[in-house]
Amino acid sequence: MPDNGEKKAEEVKTVGGAAVTMTLDEWNKKGEKLFGPDKKKWRFKCPCCGNVQMVKDFEPFAEMGAEPNDVTCNCIGRWTHPDNTINSGKCPCNYTSGGLFCFNKTIILHEDKKIPVFEFSEE
Ligand SMILES: [Zn+2]
Repeated sequence: MPDNGEKKAEEVKTVGGAAVTMTLDEWNKKGEKLFGPDKKKWRFKCPCCGNVQMVKDFEPFAEMGAEPNDVTCNCIGRWTHPDNTINSGKCPCNYTSGGLFCFNKTIILHEDKKIPVFEFSEE
């Protein structure tokens, strides 16, 4: 499902602790268990600022290039508050897991790819 933020395995370097690795199937099952089958209702948490976001948060920014899959790899702040750097302490921030450093704690194994995604927000 998430194809943004895809990287070759050797490019994935997570920062700040061990990541949880799961298959795409396991990830889908976990999401469905938490939020139901409608992925638009799944909630994800930015690993930098803690912002909780859903697909619908990105829909107003479609013309600016936002896509549904961004919910798993880009903080909404990239569109709403692009000046909020990940070190600013502000929320939402402009973090992307497609950048130099990846803080994501969940890695999906899919075919021969490792896809770092935001954690589900279980709150
Ligand atoms: Zn953020």
